[in-house]
Amino acid sequence: MSKSFKTFLKHTAKDFHNHSVNPPVVRASTIIFKSMQEIRKTQRRAIKDPTGGHFDYARAGTSTTYVLQKILTELEECYHVFVAPSGMASIFLAIISVVRPGDEIIISDPVYSPTRILTQNFLKEFNIKTNIYNPYDLNTLEENINNRTKLIYVENPGSNSFEFQDLEKIISIAKKNKILTVMDNTWATPYYFKPIKFGFDMAIVSATKYYSGHSDVMGGSLAVNKKVFDRVKISEKITGFRLGPDDAYLIIRGLRTLDVRLDRHSENAKKIAKFLSTYKNIEILYPYKKNSLNYKMWKKYYSGASGLIGLKIKSNNINSVRKFVNSLKLFGYGYSWGGFESLVLHQEIRETGKRKFMNVTKNQHLVRLHIGLEDPKDLIDDLKQALKKLK
Ligand SMILES: *Cc1c(COP(=O)(O)O)cnc(C)c1O
Repeated sequence: MSKSFKTFLKHTAKDFHNHSVNPPVVRASTIIFKSMQEIRKTQRRAIKDPTGGHFDYARAGTSTTYVLQKILTELEECYHVFVAPSGMASIFLAIISVVRPGDEIIISDPVYSPTRILTQNFLKEFNIKTNIYNPYDLNTLEENINNRTKLIYVENPGSNSFEFQDLEKIISIAKKNKILTVMDNTWATPYYFKPIKFGFDMAIVSATKYYSGHSDVMGGSLAVNKKVFDRVKISEKITGFRLGPDDAYLIIRGLRTLDVRLDRHSENAKKIAKFLSTYKNIEILYPYKKNSLNYKMWKKYYSGASGLIGLKIKSNNINSVRKFVNSLKLFGYGYSWGGFESLVLHQEIRETGKRKFMNVTKNQHLVRLHIGLEDPKDLIDDLKQALKKLK
């Protein structure tokens, strides 16, 4: 990439044919050709360059989807990026592309709860076994490896508990044992960390979050290296996981400002973390405290941190924690995150999933904040008044 990615994002995908700054939304099922020969020519081109945008039927997308894939391939600095209708669809696509009945997967304990249900419960019915490792003890990863292990599934940081793992060590264990790796990189996006460049075979981002950035569309991306490309391509084609052109357009539109938004989310989150650090009964699950293990592991690999923060609140009075959360006025109550607006969630088992290694005692309570693009002074004032409820 010669230009900076920030510049590339603003200039890419101009449509000089239609004289518009943005690409058109091409809605199609049938892709129409002038002749049968032209169809064959397109198909031959697709064989020669399978990563190119040569469509003969719109289940593979249209030129709008292809523009999005090209932007994401540039952002990830990888071989190719597939796009799917949701983050979960990308996760499913990644796993079923490389795992077969009889195989085993190893997942990090703090994965996104639906990922855990998908692997542990749903795939079990297809005779695929899931083992779990402790994100802070990679011996538990090595211990679970056997000759049926096909995939190591990492989510970093841990979902809702924000453990930062030693990614270099994970890749080295995987390479030594010739096992494929995938990382859910939704928290940072490749703007702050590029998993494929680092050595992962596949990388997932829920485009529903920061890529779209406006809480109005769902999507998912799956970045791959050359080694797994063919397998994912075949799975994608037969499953029909296809992102619609209107959704692709909205994600492209969101991506134009990904850098600006993420930098601001990050700046605001740091201010909130600093403010909250004065509360002795709150542990902040965010990489800001120098010398902590999480900070070191984050610093080693990431160029920035996003706007999603966890709070571990020490209190013998769970009702006061609920009161604190319910007294917030500028934080919306709702799932998802990554939009321009602030959100809060009180985390119970429903949100975290049943963990094997999580270190939360009875008098500790998890709250997740997504720090939006509001004026941080207002967010701090809001937190200040709500925290008075905490006992
Ligand atoms: C939201 C999320 C997903 C799933 O994405 P959807 O687009 O909601 O399907 C996967 N992983 C992480 C870390 C997420 O936050």
